[in-house]
Amino acid sequence: MRPFDYYTPESLDKALSLLDQYGGKAKVLAGGTDLLVSIRAGLLHPACLIDVSGLAPLRQVTEDRDWLRIGAGLTHAEVESSVLLQERAPLLVEAVRTIGAPETRNLGTLGGNLASGLPSADTAPPLLALDARVKIVSSNAIRIVPVTDFFRGPRETVLKADEILAEVLIPSGEQAGAGRYLKLGRRKALSLALVGVAVWVEVGPARKTFQDVRIALGAVSPTPIRAKGGEAFFRGKRIGIDVIEEGAQWVSGEARPIDDFRASADYRKEMVGVLARRGIESCLNRLGVAAA
Ligand SMILES: Cc1cc2nc3c(=O)[nH]c(=O)nc-3n(C[C@H](O)[C@H](O)[C@H](O)COP(=O)(O)OP(=O)(O)OC[C@H]3O[C@@H](n4cnc5c(N)ncnc54)[C@H](O)[C@@H]3O)c2cc1C
Repeated sequence: MRPFDYYTPESLDKALSLLDQYGGKAKVLAGGTDLLVSIRAGLLHPACLIDVSGLAPLRQVTEDRDWLRIGAGLTHAEVESSVLLQERAPLLVEAVRTIGAPETRNLGTLGGNLASGLPSADTAPPLLALDARVKIVSSNAIRIVPVTDFFRGPRETVLKADEILAEVLIPSGEQAGAGRYLKLGRRKALSLALVGVAVWVEVGPARKTFQDVRIALGAVSPTPIRAKGGEAFFRGKRIGIDVIEEGAQWVSGEARPIDDFRASADYRKEMVGVLARRGIESCLNRLGVAAA
């Protein structure tokens, strides 16, 4: 491991000016559960680490009329134990509970999970399904980016070298639907997702049709994605077991998984359909709606 400078800036402005000063040679350090592994493995050689884990603006959760605002520096354990998030974003809370072990969740952060750009990042599918945005700051600009536009490729996001992911924004307002995150790993716990499926279901006023179904997939394409074709299939359709089965096949068809040492592409594709079906059934169950 090559030596590097290390800073614990006292403010977000100071962190941003350090990023400017190092001109692309610095890395933002949050929990370090991903970054330090890459540095130790010799895959990255930053000249400087800027530790943002103590910055108060990145560690708040608030809600206003339009947005639930979650600081990117919140650890997974903090997301998990936040009463506001349990109430207002249970789909995200369900997903962070599947991440690693308690040690990883005590250190790893929401922002680090997204910024790592891993296709298997467990917080990505729920945030995609919730139509979330991210607030990205640099020393001279603030931009709000939909999570659907955030990921560019494996380990690649829209974040520039001089930027910090500051907040995750989830639309607030009445929760008229129900969500589920289902993850398949090689083990039931302590395992990266082979397939991750987040589902959000809203039903029509007579509770006989699907009004809105949002489905997001992790670990089965170069980036986490929304299954737009499957979503369109469900919209307005009668709530029935045959419809759910057919729609789940549509969703499966949108996955573009790879073969690797953990699972074959065919298996992952098949399991996308299985988890999508189970997710929708489970959401309907939570809404007290029976599929005939
Ligand atoms: C044993 C183990 C098990 C794991 N299990 C899982 C799992 O089940 N599911 C899963 O999704 N992940 C898992 N991970 C991966 C990792 O723990 C998570 O992705 C974690 O959320 C990363 O967050 P972090 O704060 O540690 O990020 P860091 O390691 O600090 O940073 C990761 C990347 O994000 C950048 N970054 C961090 N914060 C910001 C920010 N605010 N703004 C801009 N850039 C930023 C860093 O520069 C770096 O490039 C596991 C890791 C380990 C070691």
